This record gives sequence, C-alpha cells and structure tokens, in this order.
Amino acid sequence: MAIISDNEGLGIKKGSMQKKNPIVKPENIEYDNTFENSIRPKNFDSYIGQSALKETLKITLEAAKLREKPLDHMLFYGPPGLGKTTIAGVIAAQMGVEMRITSAPALERPRDIIGILMSLKGGEILFIDEIHRLNKVAEEILYPAMEDFTLDMTTGKSQTAKTLRVPLPKFTLIGATTKAGELSGPLRDRFGMIHRLEFYTCDELAQVVLRTAGILDIKISEEGAYAIARRSRGTPRIANRLIKRVADFALVKYDGVIDETVANESLDILKIDEFGLDTTDRALLSLIIDKYDGGPVGIETIAAALSEDVRTIEDVCEPYLLQAGLLQRTPRGRKVSPEGYRHLGMKMPSEQGRLF
Ligand code: ADP
Repeated sequence: MAIISDNEGLGIKKGSMQKKNPIVKPENIEYDNTFENSIRPKNFDSYIGQSALKETLKITLEAAKLREKPLDHMLFYGPPGLGKTTIAGVIAAQMGVEMRITSAPALERPRDIIGILMSLKGGEILFIDEIHRLNKVAEEILYPAMEDFTLDMTTGKSQTAKTLRVPLPKFTLIGATTKAGELSGPLRDRFGMIHRLEFYTCDELAQVVLRTAGILDIKISEEGAYAIARRSRGTPRIANRLIKRVADFALVKYDGVIDETVANESLDILKIDEFGLDTTDRALLSLIIDKYDGGPVGIETIAAALSEDVRTIEDVCEPYLLQAGLLQRTPRGRKVSPEGYRHLGMKMPSEQGRLF
C-alpha cells in the first residue's frame, strides 16, 4: 500500500507537519478558517486538471508580460467548487500582482463598486464572485471602467448636472459565476476571455485528495484516494470536504490510515452513495418519482417540497445530477431519467407493466 505524503509548503505551519502523529486532529481542521487557503493551489503545477484552460492561460499570461500590458478581463463559469476563485488566485500569483476579492451582493450601492475601483493599483486583479448578481447601476459603472479604465461620475442635479471622467489604473476584472446565462449581454461582451470550468475526472480528483492529504499529513493509500474521488461528484471542494470527514472516521474508528475499505465504510455511514449523491440529491429524485410520476415538474415546486432554496437546488444539486444523466431538464420542468430510476433501484412506469 503506497502512503503518499506530498507537502508543497503551502502555508502549513512547520511544527504541525513534524508531529509524530501523522493525522492532523479533526478539531484543528474543522475550526481552522485558514483551511481553504492552506490547501488552495497557488500555481499552475499544483492546480490539477482543467488542462485546456491552463494551456490557454499560460500563453495569455506570457503575452501580457511580454507586452507589459494588463491581462484582458476574464469570466469563469461553472458549478460551485470547481476552482474559479482558485484559478484567479493562481493568475494573480503568476503575474506577481495583488488580487482584491469581492462578490456581487457586496456591491449593492454605487459607492461600494466606486470605492473598490478607486482603491485598485495598476495591474491588480479585481475578482467579483457571483457576478451575475450585479445590479444594473453597478454594471453601468463597470462598463467604462472595463473598457476605457475610467469612471463616469455625475455631480449636481438635472440641468446643472455634470459628468466627470475620472481615470482609473489599468486593472483586470475576473468574474466568476455559476450562471453565465444570467449575465447581461453588454457585460458579457466586455470580457476578453470566457471559459467554462469542467467537472473533474476520477483520476484528477484522486490527485486532489492525495495532494490535500499530503498537506494535512493524513495517511491515505492510492485506493483510498480513488474511493473518495469516485464519490466527490467531479468537484474538488467536495473531495476536500470528504477527506476531512473520512479522516475523522479513520482516526476514531480505525488505525488512522485511510484505505479503500475505511473510505467506503465511512462514506456509507455519511450516506454518500457510489455516485456521490447525498440524502438531498436522492430526496430530490425520489420526490419527482413518487409525487410527480418522474416529472416533468417545475423547480419551484421541487424546492418548496424539499424545503430548500431554489438557488441551492439549481446551483448545488442539479448540475451534477444533469451531468451524471440522472436528471433531465425539459421546457416543462425537471424529469428523472431512466438512469436516475435505475440508480434508486426503481422501475420506470413504462417498465412496470400496465393493468389495462
Ligand atoms: P469556486 O470558486 O469555483 O467555487 P474554489 O476555487 O473556491 O471554487 O475551489 C474550491 C476548493 O477546491 C478550494 O479549496 C481548492 O483548494 C480546491 N480546488 C479547486 N480547484 C482545484 C484544482 N484544480 N486542483 C486542486 N484543488 C482545487
């Protein structure tokens, strides 16, 4: 059994890596709010997968450096947890510039976005998460800022109103969204690069798991890493969450080492099935089958019946169920696919035989 430990020196305190006990205590992981940062890849080599994106970016970054110009504005989209924030951080690190992170809901008032734009320095990156949620006013302030690096400010009222053009430093805007379709056309058109992040393969997620285990000093076999990867729904954030949970089980119930059996048994107890579906995902599929004959049924009805937020269903549950082919989106609502029925061990109405 190969025990992999691969500390890349990503901000983990030295002392904690050198302790005799190789397992980082769960309480330290759980309440350490620098956890996300400590395991976030900081360069292209440690950023696993998304090879097409990385290749394009490497060239774009090199060209910007040669031209001594700021990078084009970029938009990354895809389901949560696939690495949009992380790749933005990698870009900033590779360019040797600071990145300011904010999100659209934090830019409610004009002065929020004006304040942040005016505080930027030349070459810096402004990262706006959930950019599809920007309001119209903030968007309109952004247009000239993105295009001409200016702020158009109006002073005075009605007839005496004047527009002031305030120059801004040349910055790069990186937007991230789970819903590219909800971005207005004019905003989308102002991005020089638009890229969709893909779900990760099982091999890539196993690498993510092994890398995180190395950083956290968690002992895990390659088979154990694959067992976690298979149930991580193609998403590194989930892989990282599951490894923490499984490490807890390994510490308390086993000898501290995660192998395939420990991983599978722990994930079974956590009710994460072989497809990576959790209780909410299965409840969603069962609801459509049991109450709506497999669908189609509207998303609002599903959300209300599950007492979940529509946004959570749309952003968190659905993308993977659709990608895995368990759910289908039709103009009349969501439908469980034959594969979805099979996954729950149920028969489609057409297979159940009719009485008449
Ligand atoms: P998003 O912004 O798309 O919601 P994040 O960039 O916050 O996702 O990534 C979520 C977590 O997954 C981070 O903690 C990061 O460590 C990990 N992660 C994301 N992408 C990768 C990757 N390509 N390789 C390794 N780990 C990754």
